[in-house]
Amino acid sequence: MYKINELPTPCFVIDEGKLEENLKILHQVEERTGAKILLAQKCFSCFSEYPLIGKYISGTTASGLYEARLGKEEMGLENHVYSPAYRPQDMEELAQICDHIIFNSEKQLRTYLPVLKASGTAKAGLRINPECSTQEGHAIYDPCAPGSRMGIRACDFTDELADLVDGLHFHTLCEQNSDDLETTLRAVEEKFGKWLFKMNWLNMGGGHHITREDYDIERLISCINHMKETYGLQIYLEPGEAVALNAGYNVTEVLDIVENNGKILILDTSAACHMPDVLEMPYRPPLKGSGLPGEKPYTYRLSCNTCLAGDVIGEYSFDSQIRIGDRLYFEDMAIYSMVKTNTFNGIPLPSIAVMDKAGNCRMIKEFGYEDFKNRLS
Ligand SMILES: *Cc1c(COP(=O)(O)O)cnc(C)c1O
Repeated sequence: MYKINELPTPCFVIDEGKLEENLKILHQVEERTGAKILLAQKCFSCFSEYPLIGKYISGTTASGLYEARLGKEEMGLENHVYSPAYRPQDMEELAQICDHIIFNSEKQLRTYLPVLKASGTAKAGLRINPECSTQEGHAIYDPCAPGSRMGIRACDFTDELADLVDGLHFHTLCEQNSDDLETTLRAVEEKFGKWLFKMNWLNMGGGHHITREDYDIERLISCINHMKETYGLQIYLEPGEAVALNAGYNVTEVLDIVENNGKILILDTSAACHMPDVLEMPYRPPLKGSGLPGEKPYTYRLSCNTCLAGDVIGEYSFDSQIRIGDRLYFEDMAIYSMVKTNTFNGIPLPSIAVMDKAGNCRMIKEFGYEDFKNRLS
């Protein structure tokens, strides 16, 4: 047992109390609408929490065979999969362990439908592209952008295709509120409405920021009910972020402080290795007790112990001077963090701990030199 300030660093800490708060909100959406909510494992795959998650929501969704296996083994509830293209050698096992298999193209569907039929239970779905962009900020997360490979456009959809599948799937949102879902649904209805009447289910993907403070849950509920009642559909949602939003930390220690047009902290965690979305998205992760540059008396640039010059997290200010050996706590670090770590530059992987509601932490995973070596040859 550790307190959070005693954990060896770097360390991800999963906040179980916060996770459960999120799950209660999602559970209420299920209860009030009959929609089923699945964890998108791409965002958060901490399977030691799957028994807890499975108490509140209906199952898991996967991006391929490995995530599908993990969901089946560790949660064992409804298990779905979508991939832009499946590999032939994975299909038989997917058909055994998944309830829904969602295809991205007519060719993929027709190629693998016989495997699904032979397996017995897995239902086929198709991903559609409603060609309705509702986000400006993050072009790399916009599957409706021109030239997108994600989903079939209405101009390529046919009655014959509709007869081959059990349901449709779209995923177009990213960290968005239910007003953007409403806009998207108008496009989906306008372009695919006549085929929706033939379907058993509609999967509305992820990107619904349901557990964020300002999220309009009532509007989400009316969207779900509208689709359910108009077309007689079972509705699915597959959020990743909303499940584990604000439910984790990355605890790091200051290794050195150098000077170049201001003070620079060198931390024992890395944006490139441990928080790659900071560079990829990019964004400035929240840091406990800090302010914007200049907001508090002491401003520092936070950087990392890799050899990548651009491995810089951002500028933050503090109430007091930072010293070598101090600990910093990055917040909202459960999502798209542990699933994305790498050992670039031979940087150690952060260990993983779980904090219970009383604030006691237990270490659930530690990594070492072997984890670095085993991925190479
Ligand atoms: C990434 C993804 C999700 C989860 O998205 P969040 O933004 O984490 O909620 C759900 N479905 C599909 C198909 C995805 O690619």
